Amino acid sequence: SFRALVTDRDEAGTVASSVEQIEDDRLPEGEVTVDVEWAGLNYKDGLCLTGKGGLVRTYPHVAGIDFAGTVQESSDGRYAAGDAVVLTGWRVGETHWGGYAERARVKADWLVPLPQGLTTRDAMVVGTAGLTAMLAVQRLEGAGVTPDKGDVLVTGASGGVGSIAVSLLGRLGYRVVALSGRPEHGEALRRLGASEILSRDDFLAQPDKPLESARWAAAIDNVGGAVLGKLLKQMQYGGVVAAIGNAGGIGLETNVLPFILRAVTLVGIDSVMQPYEARIAAWQRIAEIFDLDAYGALVEEIGLGELPAAAERILAGQVRGRVLVRPR
Ligand code: NAP
Repeated sequence: SFRALVTDRDEAGTVASSVEQIEDDRLPEGEVTVDVEWAGLNYKDGLCLTGKGGLVRTYPHVAGIDFAGTVQESSDGRYAAGDAVVLTGWRVGETHWGGYAERARVKADWLVPLPQGLTTRDAMVVGTAGLTAMLAVQRLEGAGVTPDKGDVLVTGASGGVGSIAVSLLGRLGYRVVALSGRPEHGEALRRLGASEILSRDDFLAQPDKPLESARWAAAIDNVGGAVLGKLLKQMQYGGVVAAIGNAGGIGLETNVLPFILRAVTLVGIDSVMQPYEARIAAWQRIAEIFDLDAYGALVEEIGLGELPAAAERILAGQVRGRVLVRPR
């Protein structure tokens, strides 16, 4: 048996989680059983742990959308006992039991081998957040964005995806401007590679016009809503925006002028259903360029029992960087 954070919903619809001892025969179907060493806390985990967003349909549930660990048992030829593996996405932690447990069982197709040069802890410092940030950087590059084109705006910059995006772009030589609702924490973002910190309130308070002064060669947006609507109007000619998240809302109010007068491109980023080859390529590039040492100050470690409180914090926009979960 193993310890897990079990999330359940009572008849009144209240969702709550507690640490329980679980028998192995309750693990879901899958070819690979993994001893989880580290899991991550993402915005989506906050939703799953609190029952918000309708992501979890079946209870009792074990949340945790990303984890890294060692294969305990495998019936798939690609993995053998002792192999270090990483899981992100595929709706694990939402529709399938996830990483907030000492043990998880998943499909072999969903795993990737631990990238060379990273520990399982490193892999969860990166986690879904870092993988998604890299996928966004690669989409910008694919659309022709280069450091000489101008400033890149990163929104929700203090969060997991945002702070890793700042770091990756900085390492690649871009001039990064970090937009944050908590500009008082800007020093940490400067150390990661941001050249300038922009307060979200100031940004949104500027007078609204169909087109505004052209400022950004590219943007990585983790927030959606009014912030995405505003930044689209400030894109330079030919600018590219990667939409990742909805921490500020799912709405998008915009107009066609940025697209038809400034040839702006809006691309969507999804990490969940990303095919295997693209995952491998993104992880490899992360292992090559991400400065884990510099990022250390933005990493917090918690145990399973501390997750419910951390879930509330991430939904309230109070988490900085990455929260790592150590189930053992
Ligand atoms: P996170 O650590 O909570 O970061 C989100 C950041 O957004 C916060 O730190 C905060 O940054 C800002 N924010 C929070 N509430 C806000 C609000 N009401 N209005 C405006 N800004 C707000 O979450 P994460 O795990 O990095 O994920 C970021 C977003 O990307 C989430 O929406 C998540 O669902 C999404 N995501 C999508 C994918 C994908 O595959 N497309 C993958 C991973 C994550 P500041 O305090 O600096 O402003």
